[in-house]
Amino acid sequence: MNLDSRTLLFSLILVNTLMVLSLVVAASNRTYPGKQDGMGKWAAAMLLETLTWILAAARGAIPDFLSIAVANGCKAAAHALVLAAIFEFQRRRAPRWQYLAPVALTLVIMITLQDDMRGRFIWGGLIFAFQMVLIGRALLSDHETRAGRAWRLMFAGIVMTVLVIAIRTIVALSGPIEFAQPQNSIAPHWIQIVAYVGVMAAALLGSMGFVLLVKERTDREIMHLAMTDSLTQVPNRRALIEHAERSLARRSGLPLVLLMIDIDHFKRINDTYGHPTGDEVLREVARLLVQRLRGHDLLGRYGGEEFCVIAPETNAEGARVLAESLRQAIAAARFATDSGEISVTVSIGYSLCQAKLVRELPEVLSEADAALYIAKQTGRNKVACFGEVNPIAHHMLARDAA
Ligand code: GH3
Ligand code: MG
Ligand code: MG
Repeated sequence: MNLDSRTLLFSLILVNTLMVLSLVVAASNRTYPGKQDGMGKWAAAMLLETLTWILAAARGAIPDFLSIAVANGCKAAAHALVLAAIFEFQRRRAPRWQYLAPVALTLVIMITLQDDMRGRFIWGGLIFAFQMVLIGRALLSDHETRAGRAWRLMFAGIVMTVLVIAIRTIVALSGPIEFAQPQNSIAPHWIQIVAYVGVMAAALLGSMGFVLLVKERTDREIMHLAMTDSLTQVPNRRALIEHAERSLARRSGLPLVLLMIDIDHFKRINDTYGHPTGDEVLREVARLLVQRLRGHDLLGRYGGEEFCVIAPETNAEGARVLAESLRQAIAAARFATDSGEISVTVSIGYSLCQAKLVRELPEVLSEADAALYIAKQTGRNKVACFGEVNPIAHHMLARDAA
């Protein structure tokens, strides 16, 4: 391959500059003003990285102090800012020395060893490698960072940087030292090409990874908002329906039960104590119901003062016990509100979906609703199963129809 060092260096600077511009645009997103997600710091890191390569490219044309000490200082500061960006994203703080010590040490070493390239490569490499360890540890030690996949790109960037450091160190320790100089105008040695590619790849993978990391978390937050009822913090109607459809499709062995729970005379609570107290009661009812469920049962707010429970792998007896225990728990509870202690009751209707039958959700919902109607008609604070022979209900429904 006929590659020219200056062209490689130029493309490295160009890629970095464009990346800084893109990151500045991404960081200045005003959708969430004042959002501290590390993007600004990452953009600054890439700016310093760019400066490093501009100074290195100007070697010979500018004083060595600038192209060696300041350039390497910029590189160490860029790594420190990468670390700071990750910590800001994670809403954590690292001890100050983790940022400052490597930068200060790099400057001291580069100034003292200005005429000793071998020494600079070895000591500088050690400091940069240490910074990579700090960055890698910051990525790996945070649960939320590792919830997605983007951190892997960033980790690949770290591996690339370590690879370049290792190559430069090996050259410094053993081989002809000029191979490692990036700004030689002669046709580069393969080691230099590997170093260029490594440096460029690290910047691209790291930046792409970081932007995606921020995006992944924003996606998760938006998803949570879209699927959660803001008042009670339980799954909302959309989440409930999606979950119910999935659970219906996945039934195996045992039946699934869908319970519809409606607070009795809730309008009276609002009328007597006001809407805010009604809200408090809704929150408390949801909290108590959730506490009572088994791990794989799901409670969602179906609307207004109605909740649904999807309980998979539940037979007729289990469904009755579950519904009855929820009804009793609410009836026994005293909810502490700003308007004093309030107690409410709920009526529950449920539909049992046998595992072997194909069932559609609208049909199951209307069965549970019909059962709920019976529970209300037979006096409230009751449990009713769809399709179960209920003499009182039959009597009352016949009377209603008449
Ligand atoms: P029933 O026993 O027949 O269910 O009587 P009910 O009063 O509970 O039923 P109804 O459907 O007549 O009234 C439900 C009330 O729930 C009316 C509505 O104002 C209230 N409600 C619905 N959503 C909310 C909410 O988010 N907060 C508050 N505070 N009230 C709500
Ligand atoms: Mg209702
Ligand atoms: Mg009601």
